[in-house]
Amino acid sequence: MSVIIAIDGYAGTGKSTLARDLANALGYTYLDTGAMYRAVTLYLLRNDISWLDAEKLGRALQNIRIEFRISPDNGKRHTYLNGEDVEADIRSMAVSGVVSEVAAVSAVRRFLVEQQRQIGMEQDCVLDGRDIGTVVFPNARFKFFITAPMEVRIARRLGELFRAGADIDADAVQANLEKRDREETQREDSPLRPAPDAVHLDTGGLDREQQLAAALKHIEAQ
Ligand code: C5P
Repeated sequence: MSVIIAIDGYAGTGKSTLARDLANALGYTYLDTGAMYRAVTLYLLRNDISWLDAEKLGRALQNIRIEFRISPDNGKRHTYLNGEDVEADIRSMAVSGVVSEVAAVSAVRRFLVEQQRQIGMEQDCVLDGRDIGTVVFPNARFKFFITAPMEVRIARRLGELFRAGADIDADAVQANLEKRDREETQREDSPLRPAPDAVHLDTGGLDREQQLAAALKHIEAQ
């Protein structure tokens, strides 16, 4: 049986960084489930398909193939949509602006959760997302629920967007984080909430090494 480490929490709390660092430290596969919701969103936007049109959405999902591959450009793991490297495009504000609406649709969740379970069954994995410890792998060996104060989350997201060359201000980032928090915690299917057995970790006062050390301490203690 493969070992699953589930990392859930709000956007911009440092989840993905922690998940990637943990996977590297333990030699596990890292699965960024948010990237999968982003890739579906990008496909729908590009093809002008409404996620509220069940029939069109169903047909669109059949044409979506998501993979994670090492980019020949920088040696990093990138998200590929139907063979195209979309790593930069899925992080754009256009996608961030509506991804939580797309992620609220049950057909989209069923489509992606099935793939996530398949990948997690085949290898030891660290998965980060919103519903990993509650829905995707409720029996995960380790579960973390990550939080951070809003000002820290804004600063982190701004830094990421700035490094990606986007021209965006703090108010827009805050509005987007608040919209996603609201939609993700209030949706009917797989709302964001901590699993009862998750370890809570506030990354607000921690740097990258400290948050990795804190998570490894919990893992080693169990
Ligand atoms: O993690 P990231 O912020 O990139 O995820 C993008 C969006 O995908 C989230 O805002 C959330 O709406 C959705 N998501 C989800 N369930 C997951 C992962 C992401 O609903 N497991």
